[in-house]
Amino acid sequence: MDEFKYVDGALHCEKVPVRALADEYGTPLYVYSAGTIRDHYARIRSAFSEVDATICYSVKSCHNLSILTLLRDLGSDFDIVSGGELRRVLEIGVAPERIVFAGVGKTNDEIVEALKVGIGWFNVESEEELENIARLALDAGKVARVALRINPDVDPKTHRYTTTGLRETKFGVDIERAKQVFKCFRGRDEIDLAGIHVHIGSPVNTIEPYVQSMTRACALIDELNNAGYGIRAINLGGGFGAHYDGAEAPFASEYAKQIQPLLANRGLAVYLEPGRSITANAGILVAKVLYRKASGEKQFLICDAAMTDLLRPSLYGSFHFVWPVDPGACAVPSARSADIQLDGSVLVDVVGPVCESGDFLAKDRWLPSIEQGEYLAVFSAGAYGFVMSSQYNSRQRAAEVLVDGRNAKVIRQRESYDDMVALERL
Ligand SMILES: *Cc1c(COP(=O)(O)O)cnc(C)c1O
Repeated sequence: MDEFKYVDGALHCEKVPVRALADEYGTPLYVYSAGTIRDHYARIRSAFSEVDATICYSVKSCHNLSILTLLRDLGSDFDIVSGGELRRVLEIGVAPERIVFAGVGKTNDEIVEALKVGIGWFNVESEEELENIARLALDAGKVARVALRINPDVDPKTHRYTTTGLRETKFGVDIERAKQVFKCFRGRDEIDLAGIHVHIGSPVNTIEPYVQSMTRACALIDELNNAGYGIRAINLGGGFGAHYDGAEAPFASEYAKQIQPLLANRGLAVYLEPGRSITANAGILVAKVLYRKASGEKQFLICDAAMTDLLRPSLYGSFHFVWPVDPGACAVPSARSADIQLDGSVLVDVVGPVCESGDFLAKDRWLPSIEQGEYLAVFSAGAYGFVMSSQYNSRQRAAEVLVDGRNAKVIRQRESYDDMVALERL
């Protein structure tokens, strides 16, 4: 499913040895595989071809301009959640009507800018927001095309921080309320309220929650259309899983097999907003082991990457498979799983230099014996990795490299100390 593979005992990204990249560009380093992104995008595209789904790549999962350009060239549309993301997508010359704009807290500046350039859809999360968009659209002499985000009250069985489709979360409006909103905004010329949007959470490693939420959304659309509302589009959001620990995520084709029949032959335009399922396994974070320290049974591997580079373990307790970049012939893992424990391995915590006990990348892992100065690969780091990085402890953000076949290119330089203080004033 991705192009990070051990060849003769050395980790490669496509045709390039990862060690060579770390030696040349330094660590911590994000390395992405263009081929993997193309492959994941193509799988989703073909899985949902029967409903001719428009794929709006979720910019927040990995927002580097070169990654966005790669997706643009594949024909992707884009899902954004802020004015900053709007700027990124416009920066690479995407037609504004190929952008959908979600988010619970859109500011007036963001809405006005989006109206001005003419984005495709606003995915609206509350009545007050819709009222505000209507007012700003009227002022600007524009018509805002809107999909109302409903909250289908479905449990996606994922981390509570990334559960978004339950009634008690801040996202969307519940179905009864949605009917009221449609009624209330009927006949307003500045609003083209023509779609239903649903995004239940992430990652959703079972298909049933989508079936439930799409069934509810379609029932609502039928009811509205029978009453003459003219709903033309359904957006089923993102949230498809990725393989972090073994092979826990269904294939795009498996999601499609159950979801697509619910949407086919309804005359609706279908939108998807995948992020993680495209980028998670298209990127790794490479770190160097600075020091080793024993503590009872356990060894700490203190490395130069930290929670400031990859926050997911600290924030969500997420599992990322970690393995040496050059383990040699005898210790290449057969799968990326928490259950891997080869002979002679050592129990370790992989931690960073930040002054927080929550600063770890991996806990209680069995790794081959590691030398000082060795490189470690933290897998499945392409989504919600670099984009969540920070300068806490005045750490420079990592460099990012994109590999395509035999070629590697820096797509974001490592920050310098000058960059770090550039905006501050004495
Ligand atoms: C975050 C988000 C997505 C993408 O989720 P993934 O799990 O990365 O696929 C899609 N739509 C909305 C509205 C989101 O907030």
